[in-house]
Amino acid sequence: MNQTIECRKLTKAFKGDGVETFALKNIDVTLEEGDFISIIGPSGSGKSTLLSIIGTLDEPTSGELLHEQQPVHKLNSRQLADFRFENIGFIFQQFHLIPTLTAAENIMAPLFGRKVSYDKKQRALDLLQMVGLQDKANSLPSQLSGGQQQRVAIARALVHEPKWLLADEPTGNLDSETGEVIFQLLQTLNKEKGCGVLFVTHDPALAERANRKIEMRDGEIVSDTQVSQYA
Ligand code: ADP
Ligand code: MG
Repeated sequence: MNQTIECRKLTKAFKGDGVETFALKNIDVTLEEGDFISIIGPSGSGKSTLLSIIGTLDEPTSGELLHEQQPVHKLNSRQLADFRFENIGFIFQQFHLIPTLTAAENIMAPLFGRKVSYDKKQRALDLLQMVGLQDKANSLPSQLSGGQQQRVAIARALVHEPKWLLADEPTGNLDSETGEVIFQLLQTLNKEKGCGVLFVTHDPALAERANRKIEMRDGEIVSDTQVSQYA
């Protein structure tokens, strides 16, 4: 199935003190099936805002988000929840795990209230194995290192097998060695499971290792280039 997501003339304005600032200005971009994309740009250039809109955590001020050529804003709330469930996994710099839930429970959380054909607990354990944390199922986030918490967060983002993984500076809070582990995990997911990846980074060297690099400045995309395959 086609997993293309398109942004058409997206803008996002924020009002503060009566002044409107445009976090995004006329963004046109198409995310193609299997893409492994880095987004780089100075602080405040609109990277997080773009990710939030693509992930339907936020709405554009104008313009459209299209999924398989259909405007996402026309979906009702139930359809929107289904769109998210089928397409979007999110990971953040701050991990955002629920502190009172174990690693396995955090991973199962997105499945709450959903009927699925598989055993939820087993799925969580399989994902923990995939991220190398099979012995941490019953650990609370506070008992895990930053790198381990991010691996749990990745497992949680993948539990519903989304077509896209959106990662907002996923290695920003990690030392470079741990960041490398996380980056390689994203690469493997893309290569072996065909999961589309869109990750924001401040690190120019990391950005070069995606298949496609998007540079943002002042709410605009200033370049969008194919880079080397899996450096
Ligand atoms: P980046 O992730 O590239 O650092 P952001 O997308 O977070 O940039 O922010 C882009 C611009 O939008 C910045 O000027 C920021 O101050 C502004 N902005 C982002 N979110 C909000 C918000 N919730 N309210 C007001 N302004 C915001
Ligand atoms: Mg940001």
